[in-house]
Amino acid sequence: LLETAWHLLRRPESEGWRMSPNGARPARAHASVDNLRTYLLAAARKDPDRPAVIQAAADGGLETVSYGELQHRTDRCAEALDALGLDVGDRVILESDTEADAIATLLACATLGLPFTPVSPETPDERLLTIIDSAEPALYLQSARGQRTGIPETVGTARFGADGLTVERPPAPRVRRRRVVTPLDTAYITFTSGTTGRPKGVVMSHRGVIAFLRGAEAAELITSEDRVAGTAPLQFDFALFDIGFALSHGAALVPVPRDRLNWPRRFLSFLRDTGTTQVDAVPSAWRPVLRHEPDLLAELGEQGVLRRIAFSGEDFPLEELRALQELLPKVRFTNGYGATETMAASITEVPNPLPPGTERLSIGYAVAGAEMMLIGPDGRPVDEPGVLDEIYLRSPSLFSGYWNDPEATRAVVVPDPLDPRSGQRVFKTGDLATMGADGELYFHGRADSQVQIRGNRVELGEVERRIGQFTGVTGAVAMLLPRADGDPVLHAFVTRAPGGPAPDAKEVVAFCRAALPAYMIPQGVHVVDEFPLTVNGKVDRAALTALAAS
Ligand code: ADP
Repeated sequence: LLETAWHLLRRPESEGWRMSPNGARPARAHASVDNLRTYLLAAARKDPDRPAVIQAAADGGLETVSYGELQHRTDRCAEALDALGLDVGDRVILESDTEADAIATLLACATLGLPFTPVSPETPDERLLTIIDSAEPALYLQSARGQRTGIPETVGTARFGADGLTVERPPAPRVRRRRVVTPLDTAYITFTSGTTGRPKGVVMSHRGVIAFLRGAEAAELITSEDRVAGTAPLQFDFALFDIGFALSHGAALVPVPRDRLNWPRRFLSFLRDTGTTQVDAVPSAWRPVLRHEPDLLAELGEQGVLRRIAFSGEDFPLEELRALQELLPKVRFTNGYGATETMAASITEVPNPLPPGTERLSIGYAVAGAEMMLIGPDGRPVDEPGVLDEIYLRSPSLFSGYWNDPEATRAVVVPDPLDPRSGQRVFKTGDLATMGADGELYFHGRADSQVQIRGNRVELGEVERRIGQFTGVTGAVAMLLPRADGDPVLHAFVTRAPGGPAPDAKEVVAFCRAALPAYMIPQGVHVVDEFPLTVNGKVDRAALTALAAS
C-alpha cells in the first residue's frame, strides 16, 4: 500500500513534491524550474529503461542501473532525508566514490534544496574535519561500505546503500523557514584542492550548473547512446561534470573504480568490458597507460568503440598527447578548460594528429551562452593576436561565491570591465592566455605562476615548454623555489620516455640556454619517474617542492 501511495506521489506534475512527515512546510522543487534533479532525470520519464549508470558490481561483474531505477532510488532517499526535517540550505556532506547510490543521494539532496559537499573516501581525516568546520553541515552521509569514523557529535550521520538510507545519528532538530527550492538555491559546495591557492568552498547554484550543462549540450559531443567513463574523484567538480554531462544527454555514466584507474591493464579492460565510448580524465591519468600498456591501448582504439577522449584540469604536455594520439588515430580529442567557479569555460576539439609545429593547445571559445574575454591590467579588452593577458569569463554558470569568504569572492567576482555601470559581474580567472588569429585563446598558465627572477618577468610555462622539446623528456614542471640564504632558484622536474634513458641534466640546461635568456635557465634539473599527483590527479607542485628540498 505504501508503495502504491508513493508511486501516486511521484506523478510527473508533482515531481520533487513530498509530504513533510513532521507536518510543517514541505519544501518542493517545482518540476518546471531548473533543479539538478529534474534536469538530470529527464530521461527517466522519456525512457526509464535506458542505462544511466554502468558500474563495477561487488561480485567483480558489471551492474547496470536504469534511469527509472535511479529515479526510484533518488525518491526513496529524498523521502528518508525529508523525514529528518532539514531545511532548504542545510548542508550535507556526501562521502563516496562515484556510484549509482551516491548519484541518487546527491539528486535527492538537490530535490530538497540541501546543498551537498562531495568528499572522496581518500580524503584525510584532518581535511574532512576542516571542511566540516567550515561548512557546518547538518548531516554527514557515507556509503554502507564507508570506513569513516570520528564525525563531530554536532553533525547527524547516516549511510546510503542498497537498502536506502540508514540513519545512525539524527541531525539536531531544525526550524524550517523555507517553502520552495529555487534555481538560485545552492546545488553543491565543492572544496577545491587549491591549485590556485588555499582551499575554498565554491558555492554553485542549480541555475549555474544547469546553465553550464546546457551550454555544453549545445556542442553536441555525445548522444544518449554514449557511455561516458568518469575517472575523477567525487570531490573534484570534474566528477560532477561527468555525471551532469552523461545524464543530461540521457547517456550512461561509467564510473571507473579507483583500483582500476591505478592499474593501466585493469583500467583498459574495464573500458573495453563496459563498452565505453568516451573517457573523461585529467591528462596525468594517461601517463601510466602510455608508460606501461601502449599496445593494449592501441588495441582498444582499433576496436572502434572508444570514440572520444576528453581531458581537462591542466595543460596536456604535448609530447604525451602526441604519443596518445599516435596510439589512437581514430579517436577524437577534446580539451575542456575552466575552473570550478564556473564548472568549466570551454570545450575545444583537438586535431588528431596535432599539426607539426603545434606549440600550444587551443582552449578555443567559451561554451554556448558564455564568453571568454582577454583583459589587460588597465581593464581594457585585448583584441590583437599574441598579446598575453588575463582571461575573464562572462557566464551564466558563475558561482555564487566562496563559502563564508566574501573577501576572496570580491577578488574574483568583479564588475564587468567592459561596462562597470551595468552592475553585471564577471569571473576574473587568474589564467593567462593569448588570442589567435580567429579570436580563439591559448592557455599560458596561471597569472600567479608568472614569477619575477632577478627583476625579470618569467612565465614558468615557457621554461616548461622549452624543456618539453628536449628529446626523451615527456613532461616538465618548472618552479621557483625559495632558498634560505639568498634569491629563490629556478628548478625543473622532468619525466622521461618509458624505458628511455634519463635525460642528462647538463644537456637539458644547455638546450635551454640555446633558446632562453640567462634568467630563465633552471639551476636544478631533477629527473623523476613520475610526477606526484594531487587527490584530484593533477601534478602536485607542493610535493615537488618538498622533493627538491630533500
Ligand atoms: P583546483 O584548484 O582544485 O585544481 P580547478 O580544477 O578549478 O581547481 O582548477 C582550475 C585551474 O586549472 C584553471 O584556472 C586553470 O589554471 C587550470 N586548467 C583547467 N583546465 C585546463 C586546461 N584544459 N588546460 C590548462 N589548464 C587548465
